[in-house]
Amino acid sequence: MIVMNDQTCMVDMARFFMDFIQDESCGKCTPCREGTRRMLEVLEKITHGHGEPGDIDLLEELSDMIKNSALCGLGQTGPNPVLSTLQYFRDEYEAHIHEKRCPAKRCAALVKFEVNADVCTKCGICSRSCPAGAIQWQKREPAFIVKDKCVKCLSCITNCPADAIS
Ligand code: SF4
Ligand code: SF4
Ligand code: SF4
Repeated sequence: MIVMNDQTCMVDMARFFMDFIQDESCGKCTPCREGTRRMLEVLEKITHGHGEPGDIDLLEELSDMIKNSALCGLGQTGPNPVLSTLQYFRDEYEAHIHEKRCPAKRCAALVKFEVNADVCTKCGICSRSCPAGAIQWQKREPAFIVKDKCVKCLSCITNCPADAIS
């Protein structure tokens, strides 16, 4: 059992499991060997901000084909993480593809890394958690991210108690 919260991106989670399936595929049958590779490419494209209309249909078509024609249980169940996230979190796929936005703020390519000064509580936690020294902060002042220094590690977003970083 894996417990997730609203900081887990369901598209990225599906990409992670498809990467695992692709690694584990023995390559004996074409649907699993090639189909999971194609699915992984589509998921990587979406999480990197290059998703296109039609990608969801393509994922469903490939899933159907793999489930119905793969030789063993690995391939037959491999698309399940994609199908179940599409069933219950389709809006997250659509946000990635159509709005170039990751609702869970996990896909670095789709996160802007800006501090909302109106929401920032001026605590300085993000500044202390930044490994790149990219966040300027002084007492009683909102934090400020120097974009040129940011390495998109997501640490500030994860640690900000006020959800002030987009
Ligand atoms: S479905 Fe099974 S037999 Fe076919 S490539 Fe995948 S792991 Fe190998
Ligand atoms: S994403 Fe990482 S490197 Fe960029 S500002 Fe936040 S903590 Fe610093
Ligand atoms: S952690 Fe969040 S609330 Fe605290 S200074 Fe940084 S952006 Fe502001």
